[in-house]
Amino acid sequence: MTDCHDLPGFRYICSSKFARLMELMTGKIQDEKRQGEAYAPFAQDPNQYKKRFYIESYGCQMNFADSEVVASILNQEGFGATRNLEEADLIFINTCSIREKAEQTVRKRLTEFKKLKKARKGMLVGVLGCMAERLKAQFLEEEKLVDLVVGPDAYRSLPALVAEAETGQKAVNVLLSRDETYADISPVRLDSNGVSAFVSIMRGCNNMCSFCVVPFTRGRERSRDAASILQECRDLFEKGYREVTLLGQNVDSYYFADEVSGQTITFAGLMKSVADISPLLRVRFSTSHPKDITDEVLKVMAAYDNICKYIHLPVQSGSTRVLQLMNRTYTREWYLAKVDRIREILPDCGISSDIIAGFCTEEETDHQDTLAVMEYSRYDMSYMFFYSERPGTLAQRRYTDDIPLEVKKRRLQEIVDLQGRLSLESNKRDLGKICTVLIEGDSKRSDQDWMGRNSQNKVIVFPKDNTVRQKGEYVTVEVTGCTQATLLGRII
Ligand code: SAM
Ligand code: SF4
Repeated sequence: MTDCHDLPGFRYICSSKFARLMELMTGKIQDEKRQGEAYAPFAQDPNQYKKRFYIESYGCQMNFADSEVVASILNQEGFGATRNLEEADLIFINTCSIREKAEQTVRKRLTEFKKLKKARKGMLVGVLGCMAERLKAQFLEEEKLVDLVVGPDAYRSLPALVAEAETGQKAVNVLLSRDETYADISPVRLDSNGVSAFVSIMRGCNNMCSFCVVPFTRGRERSRDAASILQECRDLFEKGYREVTLLGQNVDSYYFADEVSGQTITFAGLMKSVADISPLLRVRFSTSHPKDITDEVLKVMAAYDNICKYIHLPVQSGSTRVLQLMNRTYTREWYLAKVDRIREILPDCGISSDIIAGFCTEEETDHQDTLAVMEYSRYDMSYMFFYSERPGTLAQRRYTDDIPLEVKKRRLQEIVDLQGRLSLESNKRDLGKICTVLIEGDSKRSDQDWMGRNSQNKVIVFPKDNTVRQKGEYVTVEVTGCTQATLLGRII
C-alpha cells in the first residue's frame, strides 16, 4: 500500500483510493497533497516576535514558493510564522484561481475563519495570490471578514498594508508589475525537508492558453536576475540542500539580459550555471511548454549527470483541433515529434503531462486522440483535470462550455484509468534497474525505510541498511519491486 505522497502517477491530485479519485473527479481535490496546509519553519519557534502570522497555501508550486517570499518580507518586519491558527494575529490565505473548485475551497475556508476572528479581537485576515488578483476589491464586498486583498506582485507592500488594516481600514493592492521578481528576497523555507527546494526563476505568463486564468492573475512574463538565482541556489547548497527545482510557468522561455556584463542568459545557460555549482546538487525544472523546449536544453540535460532526466511536458489535449481552440500553438504531430526528440537525446528521460478532459466542443474522437497521445508518450505520470470555465479567459469569452459534466467526468475517468496502467507499466520496466537515489527522509509508512527519488522523479522506498545514512545523501539502489505508484528497492 502506498499513500498519496508515494504515488508518482497521482502526486498532484493525491488520490490513492477510489473515493479519493472520485473526489478528484468531482473537483474536490484540485491539486497536490500540500493543498491548504499551513507551514512555518519551526513547530515551536523560540524567537520573540511582535506579531505572529499564519499562512495557508493553495494551488501550484509557484504559490507555495510565493508564500516563502511573503514569510521573508514579514519576518524582516518582526512578524514570525506560526503553524498554530489560534495564536495568529494575522491569517493569510494564498489562493488559486485555476479551477472553480479551487476558489470554492478558499471561500469555504474563509467561513471557518469567521469564528476565530470573533473570538480574537484585532486579528486580521488577508487574501493573497491569484484569487485576490482576479476579484480585487470585490472580494471585500463578498467576504466581509477579509481585511487585506493583495495580488502576487504586491507582496513588498504587505507590511504597509497590514499597518493600514490595523487602523480599521480595508487594505488592497492588486497592482501587477512588469518587472517585479522578488529577486533580492531570500525566501524563508516554510516546509522544508532540508534536502530539496523550489527556486522561482520567472513570474507571469505571456502564452494566453484560452482556458487559463494565469496570464490575468499573474501578469506578464518576466525573468529573474540570473545572478540572484545562482546566489540562492549556492546558499541552498551550502545549507545542505541537494536538489533545486527551477520554477516558472514556462521555464524554457527564460531570458535575462545582464546589463552589467552585457550577456544574455537563456534557460539552457541558466541550467548549466546552476548545475555547475556542484555535481552533488541536483537540478530539476518545471514547467516546459512543448513549443519552447529546445534541443539546446535537451543537450545540456544530457551533458550533466546532476540535471535530472525528467520533463513535465503538458499536452492538455491530443487533438490538433482542440489544441488550436486552446491556443496551445502546437499540433498533435509537433507534440509527438517533441516526445520523439526527447527520447532520442535522453533515452532514459521520465515524461509527465497535464491533461484537460472535456474542453469546449471536444468530441469523442478528440478524446480518443488524447488517449492515443498518452499511449504513445508513455507518460510516467499526469496531472488530470476536467475543464472548468474561468471568467475573463479567451475560452469563456469565445466558446461555449458545452460538454456535459457527466461526459467530462467519464472522459476524465478514462484518462485516469489509462494513466494508472501507463504508470504501472513504466514502473515495471524499471524492475532490476540500478539507480541513484537522493534520500529525502523516512518513508511515510515506516521509519525503517527511506524514501527518495531517482533522476526520473520516481519515488522509491527501500529498507535502511545497517550502515549509517542520512537524508540528503545519495545511495545506489536496485529496483526490486513496484506498485503503480512507487518503486521498491534495496541499497547496493
Ligand atoms: N504553465 C503550465 C503549462 O502551460 O503547462 C501550467 C500551469 S497551470 C497552473 C497547471 C495546469 O492546470 C494546466 O497545465 C492545465 O492542465 C490545468 N488548467 C489550467 N486551466 C484550467 C481550466 N480552466 N480547467 C481545467 N484545468 C485547467
Ligand atoms: Fe496558463 Fe498556458 Fe501560461 Fe501555462 S502556458 S500558465 S496553461 S497560459
